[in-house]
Formats: sequence, structure tokens, C-alpha cells
Amino acid sequence: MALMGTLRSIARPAVRSLRRAYQASGGRFHCNACRRTFRSFRPLRERERFPLSASLRMIGGGGVVHCVCPFCESTDRDRHLLMYIERLHLFERMDRPRVLHFAPEPCLAAKIAETNPAEYIQADFHPRSAEVRKIDITSIPFEDDRFDLVAVNHVLEHVPDDAKALSEVYRALKPGGVAILQTPYSALLHNTFSDPGIASEEERLHLYGQEDHVRIYGQDLFARIEGVGFALRREKHSELLPDVDVRRHCVNPEEDLILAVKPMPVDAEVPAGCTA
Ligand SMILES: [Zn+2]
Repeated sequence: MALMGTLRSIARPAVRSLRRAYQASGGRFHCNACRRTFRSFRPLRERERFPLSASLRMIGGGGVVHCVCPFCESTDRDRHLLMYIERLHLFERMDRPRVLHFAPEPCLAAKIAETNPAEYIQADFHPRSAEVRKIDITSIPFEDDRFDLVAVNHVLEHVPDDAKALSEVYRALKPGGVAILQTPYSALLHNTFSDPGIASEEERLHLYGQEDHVRIYGQDLFARIEGVGFALRREKHSELLPDVDVRRHCVNPEEDLILAVKPMPVDAEVPAGCTA
């Protein structure tokens, strides 16, 4: 038995390496984050684990199963966000921005670093590396009107008091500043679905689609964002990225870019590219 266990422990990493090498060969698929081509994306999770969220046709969560780049480990939502940002020249329009980035994804962090930011703070409620600060998005420890950009990419669905989180992001942004607010939602639901009685990881997995989610947003997500004062700016894949081969890049064309702009005071000049 011990010999079998030893053989298995040697064979498994070798099989994994061979599988990755196979996936990385060929050129059918392309990752715009690391700019490589390969034979297949890796699976993120099993679709059958999300029966309810699948039936609700969740946008921005679980829509693309085989979505992980075998090289840089970007997911479909990471790559899609980069496409939107590049097509809009969103970062080129910012001059030495002050940036607050929650739950920082490596590929977006690299893109932000290219802007030569005047300040770049990476934040997480559960930081896993020294360069990421522990910051609660519902109590952002910075003064009003500080940041040009706050990236909140797939964070709100984890935060129990998301209204407070949105109002804190709004407060911390400069007038004219932009928040990236990607989050999964169902266009089939009019109202966000959440109940404090759904508390265990098993229940959340079954009903919200992921064990650490606390709701499923419905169409009212956008009114919630506007409700704290933001001007909402939604960009559609079909309008902004119609030339993108979604199968080759493995992104979900149903996923809009969700930007929220803190309006300038009345009579103030609006910076180019930051209007709603
Ligand atoms: Zn990649």
C-alpha cells in the first residue's frame, strides 16, 4: 500500500505537467492577458455544482466553465475586463492616477502598474501577501475624494453590507473618478435575492452558486449603484468588442463592463473619458 501511495504521489504531478504541456501546445485559443496561444483553457469549476445559478443564467459568474489560462491563470472575467479597458483606453486617459484595487487580480494589477500611478494600494479583507493591505471595503481608511480609480472586480457579491461598500467607494473617489464594479448578476431576476437565513457554505453554494457569496444580484443591481450617487456607465460587448472571437478568447459576450462615475460638482469641468 505504501509503495502504491509513493507511486501515486510521483505520477500525479507528472500527469498534471503532461496535461498542462498538452494544453499549452497548439494555437486554437488565445489569452489577451499573457498574449499566448494554446490548445485549451483549463476548467475553473464543474458546472453541475451550480444548478440554481445555471438556471438563472448568471452573467459574470459560472457562464464560462473552461476559462482559466494555463499560463497566467487569468479567468474569462479577467481577460474580458482587460479587453474593455484597452478598447476604451480607460487607463491611458488617466494621468498618474491614485488607485485603490480590491481583491487584486495579477493581470489587472500589472495593467494598473503600467499607468505609472501616483499611488497604488492593493487591498483585501483577507490579504494573502505582504503587498496587499487588510482593508474593509465598508470602512475604507482614507479621506474623501482621494482616488481616481477604485477597482472592485467581483467583490460586492461577497460583502454583507454592499450598500455601505458602494457608499464608501463613492466617498473615497475624486469627483470624476471611476469605479470598476464587475459582479455576477441574473438578468432574469428583477430583485436581488438574499436571505440572512442562508448562512452555511453548503446553502450558499446551492442557492447563490458559490460558498462565499451572500446574494444573487438581479436587475436592481444598477439602481443600487446609482442610488449612492454614481452615474452608471455600462458598456456592451456587442457594441464595444464586436470583432472579438469569443470562443477563441473564451469570454462571455453577455458580460457588460460596469463602470460607475462619481459626478463632478455642478459647473466643474469634466475630464475627457470620465463622463457617464
Ligand atoms: Zn494567459
